[in-house]
Amino acid sequence: MNRQTVEDIKNRKETIWINPDLGGTKHYSIGPDDIRDAEERLERFAPFIERVFPETAPRGGIIESELFPLNKMEGLPKNTFLKDDAHLAIAGSVKARGGIYEVLKRTETLALENGIITTDSDYACLEDHKDFFGKYKIQVGSTGNLGLSIGIMSAMIGYKVIVHMSADAKQWKKDLLRSKGVKVVEYKSDYSEAVANGRKQSDADPSSYFVDDENSLDLFLGYSVAAGRLAPQLKNQGAVVDDDHPLFVFIPCGVGGAPGGIAFGLRMLYGDNVHVFFVEPLDAPCFTLAMASGKGHDISIDEMGLKSTDTQADGLAVGRASSVSCDIMKSELSGCITMDDKELFGYLKECYYKEGVFLELSACAGFAGPTRLSSEEMRAYISDRGLTDKMDKSIYIIWATGGALVPESEKEAYLSV
Ligand SMILES: *Cc1c(COP(=O)(O)O)cnc(C)c1O
Repeated sequence: MNRQTVEDIKNRKETIWINPDLGGTKHYSIGPDDIRDAEERLERFAPFIERVFPETAPRGGIIESELFPLNKMEGLPKNTFLKDDAHLAIAGSVKARGGIYEVLKRTETLALENGIITTDSDYACLEDHKDFFGKYKIQVGSTGNLGLSIGIMSAMIGYKVIVHMSADAKQWKKDLLRSKGVKVVEYKSDYSEAVANGRKQSDADPSSYFVDDENSLDLFLGYSVAAGRLAPQLKNQGAVVDDDHPLFVFIPCGVGGAPGGIAFGLRMLYGDNVHVFFVEPLDAPCFTLAMASGKGHDISIDEMGLKSTDTQADGLAVGRASSVSCDIMKSELSGCITMDDKELFGYLKECYYKEGVFLELSACAGFAGPTRLSSEEMRAYISDRGLTDKMDKSIYIIWATGGALVPESEKEAYLSV
């Protein structure tokens, strides 16, 4: 238990938590084979994705984003890159990795069990079986983006879809889902409540499958394929990750599934040469709390007197961390950073006006990372690992997690704050 961090969380004071257990005992049993299995499944589905979402044709039905250098924004170290998951096809957020993957895995299981395909089939044929999938339901709890990714993909396959939306969810996300034929159930309460209710309703219905953001290993593995795809992109940019060129990655964190999956994939690939930090809002630091208190999924920010609905970063408005991610991150995560929402608006504008990329508010949290490198905690982390002399040659990635689907009128509202 790190008392100082827990105190900071309680007092809504920005904090940096460094993981004392990084590189220690592993509390998980998955490995590179599980990531490969997810990659292969996504390859089997690529012809189907390309058929039903023609915008994915340039990448042959593989949903992937660009990596590019950030050289116009001020105050960033050299060799800083943006990983632009805001522009992932179909869902416009990092959820296009995990959310869509879990729906596809469920689809493959049903189709295999019912003799519709074998793993050698051309999965493009699945488009002809909407009636079959229409007998099944998919349900999910969401603050917005997970619902979008699951809803859009599930509706396209033919499922009946119900998205349980917490109070934070933006109206345009609900409207977009309804326009795709998705049933949206609205809650006045926070995310945990929407998840708990969705889970209960789904469990009571044998035809229904629940995508459980708080416990799902499939979601996690869907996110983890990002690493293997990032590696060639870094190489193309002339960035080599090795003992002399460490990689620092800063990712916005909600339940911890998306950043956890990405971090896990990166650690499998780069080992101790990659240093991953999660960034959370002051009002919803559930992962920082989970790790610093040592209580993982069993503690909620309610106990700190915080309300996740108070943050304007709706994608990160989560009170309780994912159990899967907590267990795996125990030995793999470098640390967590918390930040004030106010800082996010500055990054949103600067990134848009200088780099020409619009990100939603939640997606800007990673920009806080490099600004914390000179903090006492980070300097200690860096010197403890013998990295002080290598910082000039380090590579930095700010993981931008969403934004492409934000309507124009909403964009203007953010840019005029
Ligand atoms: C969901 C989301 C995240 C964080 O993912 P978690 O799995 O909830 O930690 C970050 N940014 C955006 C834009 C998101 O939608």
